[in-house]
Amino acid sequence: MLQQFEHLKNLEPQPRLTVVGAGPGDPELITLKAIKTLESANVVLYDALVDTSLLTYCSEACEKIYVGKKPGESHSQDAINQLIVEKAFALGHVVRLKGGDPFVFGRGQEEIDFASQYGLITGYVPGISSSIAAPSAANIPLTVRGVSDGFWVMTGTKSDGSLSSDLQLGLQSNATLIILMGMNQLESISKICHAFGKGAVAAAIVHSATTSQQKVGFGFAGELDKIAQKNELSNPAVIVIGEVVRYADKQWWENVQKSIQNYDKEN
Ligand code: SAH
Repeated sequence: MLQQFEHLKNLEPQPRLTVVGAGPGDPELITLKAIKTLESANVVLYDALVDTSLLTYCSEACEKIYVGKKPGESHSQDAINQLIVEKAFALGHVVRLKGGDPFVFGRGQEEIDFASQYGLITGYVPGISSSIAAPSAANIPLTVRGVSDGFWVMTGTKSDGSLSSDLQLGLQSNATLIILMGMNQLESISKICHAFGKGAVAAAIVHSATTSQQKVGFGFAGELDKIAQKNELSNPAVIVIGEVVRYADKQWWENVQKSIQNYDKEN
């Protein structure tokens, strides 16, 4: 334990952090274990993608602190880490409520590591990740026998702003590709799909999955920016690339197929 908190180590209730997944958006998709953890919280630090109706599971005395990191909001990761430790020593059980599953591009591990350094007891409650819930909420199966043997979840934007090289690797497999945080990279992703001969593979973009604002656009991997424009899709959104997308709305795909065939006949 670091020296500045040494004198507080025998506090009751014990300083504690539980990192909790809130699920993808629909508040009913949180787990029972997460609800029980919220009920026992003395402090909750919650993110921008968390449905605030979940805070009603906390006691009235529980301190609820918004620490979202949307553009223009100033909570740095360092400040959040520090706040977790301060609040745990002041009040006891801190619950860190994060969208989806906190171990999927959620920095859950960093917060646990930081808290452990200061001697906090730490725990983890997984959540349903948008990487799985967004395709399924759009009726896209992640695997279909004979079509896709598996799925890759990757980020469209690494911490240095570049595209992950996993995209190139994934495009060489028959796996379904699921890209989070990719909405600022749609053109680059489509170009790489073309370069790997996968421009005509089915694709979808799912915005605000499982919420009342959910919107889905279908099309091809080589035209992701067009799919977003045509359907007015913005963040938060998950991009899905793979022939499994055709299972979501068979009628839509049959109509597209017909119009492509007619176009070919006429030209
Ligand atoms: N830990 C989260 C992901 C955090 S990264 C999880 O497991 O879901 C943030 C990215 O997640 C967003 O940019 C977007 O790509 C995706 N995302 C989160 N919630 C979403 C939702 N309801 N609909 C679509 N995409 C979502």
